[in-house]
Amino acid sequence: MITNYAGISPKTDLQLIERLAAVLSGRSMLHVNSTRAGGGVAEILHRMMPLIQSLGITVRWEVISGDEYFFEITKKFHNALQGTAVEFHDDMWEHHVAVNTANASSLDLEADAVWIHDPQPAPLIAHRRGGLWVWRCHIDASEPQADVLHHLASFCRNYDASIFSVARYARFPGVPAFVIPPSIDPLSDKNRELSAGEIAATLQQFGIPPDRPMLLQVSRFDRFKDPLGVIEAYRLIKKYNDCILVLAGSSATDDPEGEQVLQEVHQHAAGDPDIFILLLPSASDHAINALQRAATVVLQKSIREGFGLTVSEAMWKGKPVIGGATGGIPLQIIDGQTGVLVHTIEGAAFRARQLLNNADMAHRMGRQAREYVRTNFLITRQIRDYLALWAVLMRGSTSPEEFVL
Ligand code: UDP
Repeated sequence: MITNYAGISPKTDLQLIERLAAVLSGRSMLHVNSTRAGGGVAEILHRMMPLIQSLGITVRWEVISGDEYFFEITKKFHNALQGTAVEFHDDMWEHHVAVNTANASSLDLEADAVWIHDPQPAPLIAHRRGGLWVWRCHIDASEPQADVLHHLASFCRNYDASIFSVARYARFPGVPAFVIPPSIDPLSDKNRELSAGEIAATLQQFGIPPDRPMLLQVSRFDRFKDPLGVIEAYRLIKKYNDCILVLAGSSATDDPEGEQVLQEVHQHAAGDPDIFILLLPSASDHAINALQRAATVVLQKSIREGFGLTVSEAMWKGKPVIGGATGGIPLQIIDGQTGVLVHTIEGAAFRARQLLNNADMAHRMGRQAREYVRTNFLITRQIRDYLALWAVLMRGSTSPEEFVL
């Protein structure tokens, strides 16, 4: 229930959601993506759907299916949108469309508002049977390869609007673009308050000493998250400050590179007993929550990052976060205020030492971080924005200035 967020989310967001619900109640919303589990998109939908439903709006979620080749192609789209050079052949564009055509005949695409998530189901727009259609792109598309941009744009321009997490990602011509960043749910297992006992039990479970300053990075074992850089930064810090390093990530079974990166991380750690490399099972929300709360300083030293939900998760827990100045991280971290932005390993180490040596600075930053997340990155803000966009589009206008509730 949205009312559970009273006293947590900004009151104005809750008031606006109430007004929007009055306009939209009785209508239907459909979300379509390509996976029901795993990844930020599925995580947010799982939390958001019951909340929107509780507002009197009927919400459904459809998942498209495809063969292995289809997902190989769409993974290539992902990489090519993020700036990696990828070679495409005509049959790839055709297969992308053909799989969507097959899905269109088995899925129920009828709703007043249809939110299509990411490139995989984008061609479904050709099978629209009424309603407003919005393309919600979660990917960093700041340096798109021309051919993939051209292919996806041919679908995008038929949507009523597009949504991106960061303004720089809105590179698709011919469709009104809106910027709506993702969000975290303060009431989920990953972010709810935990007792000191719960936190201590998690540390004990992993054999992590509770009484030493702890640096933490929570991330898939992925090169773009720079886990080796984090270990190097830790070594520079360790010359002067006693601390331990925890690198927590899940087993990346869907990512062939994940296993290799994990091995490299183990090699790089070289048996240092103060480095804890945790391979977490997929349902580890409670453990991640406890680790983030136990940390003294949280790192997210990414080299590339779509948004970086882990940053907001740690900020919400009042932690000073050192983040790579990339993707959606600078949207969350105002350098020196709500966290620290860094460009190098040396920079990360220098700033971590500053925070370890200055508890007041760390607390002040953590407090500001939490307030910044409260205002900008809680799930109620995202629901507010989604409903506002829907209501605006319903009025036949894409200009929020013209819209008066
Ligand atoms: N996460 C998790 N288990 C892990 C590693 C990460 O549940 O072992 C969660 C993390 O808490 C966050 C999400 O997965 O909610 C990762 O989102 P983010 O935007 O930080 O990075 P992505 O993995 O989408 O690149």
